[in-house]
Amino acid sequence: MSEFFSARYAGLIPYTPGEQPKDMKYIKLNTNESPFPPSPAVERAVAAESGRLQLYSDPENRTLRERLARRFSVSPEEVVVTNGSDEVLNFAFMAFADESRPLRFPDITYGFYPVFANLHGIPYTEVPLREDFSIAPEDYTGVRETVVIANPNAPTGLSLSLVEIERIVASNPENVVIVDEAYVDFGAESAIPLTKKYKNLLVTGTFSKSRSMAGARLGFGIGNKALIADLNTLRYSTNPYNVNRMTEMAGVAALEEDEYYMSNCRTIVENREWTTKRLQELGFSVLSSRANFVFAACPRIGGKELYLSLKERGVLVRHFDKDRIREYNRITVGTREQMEVLIRNIEEILKERSL
Ligand SMILES: *Cc1c(COP(=O)(O)O)cnc(C)c1O
Repeated sequence: MSEFFSARYAGLIPYTPGEQPKDMKYIKLNTNESPFPPSPAVERAVAAESGRLQLYSDPENRTLRERLARRFSVSPEEVVVTNGSDEVLNFAFMAFADESRPLRFPDITYGFYPVFANLHGIPYTEVPLREDFSIAPEDYTGVRETVVIANPNAPTGLSLSLVEIERIVASNPENVVIVDEAYVDFGAESAIPLTKKYKNLLVTGTFSKSRSMAGARLGFGIGNKALIADLNTLRYSTNPYNVNRMTEMAGVAALEEDEYYMSNCRTIVENREWTTKRLQELGFSVLSSRANFVFAACPRIGGKELYLSLKERGVLVRHFDKDRIREYNRITVGTREQMEVLIRNIEEILKERSL
């Protein structure tokens, strides 16, 4: 830290992104990216737009917001687009939480939530998940706090039903409930239809996981017009050109090829079920995931040791050195071939240990 760093941020512990090592070619199952490339239409849209980079992007991102609105049966005024969904989450924390509206989220969830809260000096409560890692909805009903729930949750992959989400939203009319649906396309129910009924519900989504665009940085928020206007006040106070030309057109093209992406999601779900079964046969306990990853622990080998052994063999998974989940690894579900390599390596690691 330099002597010039503001005291406001001196104690800040930044988010640690999943590693992207360059020392060898890994099978990357550690950051929940899609193993499938973007559709050819997306590549063409990016190439076409790259010839217009001398011009600023549309600060209102009208084309993309209209397409998103159509896709999710809302109006464009109910949509904001951002540089990844991390950005809409950041704006939402700034807009809808403060000393008088503290935050509430699970103790085991997306690691960015406490970072954003600390960045903005927002008080927060981390509510322990149940022993089985599920969220107890009653911990979030009638709490008079701004609630943030990833549904499905990360890194567990477990999801709440729409009925449970609605109960939480309906019981906190004086606070915003933020539902982070980064993984919803892999088998959970979206709360977007409820934004018509509840003015305190903000749903966030991303093109990073199910739409193969992690590197393009495109996220969105859907909610009541007034909530979206608040987010836009912050967006225009930060960076009105937050979504660049190429990313906007990539997003538009991706929405036109929705069937390609939804079909990829079905493949991932099949591969997830296959991987879950194979891991269970090897003695792992595997949570029942609705996302594009599985969260698994093996009584025959420590979580960190498995992570390190797999890395040595060129397979990257995500290990969190954190109480309660230290024995687990979060494994992104990739192609069937990648998952076969994963399982083969785990078999060999376990065999070596038992010699
Ligand atoms: C990946 C992820 C995000 C955000 O990803 P972006 O790439 O910024 O869109 C948000 N929430 C959760 C729970 C995630 O796993």
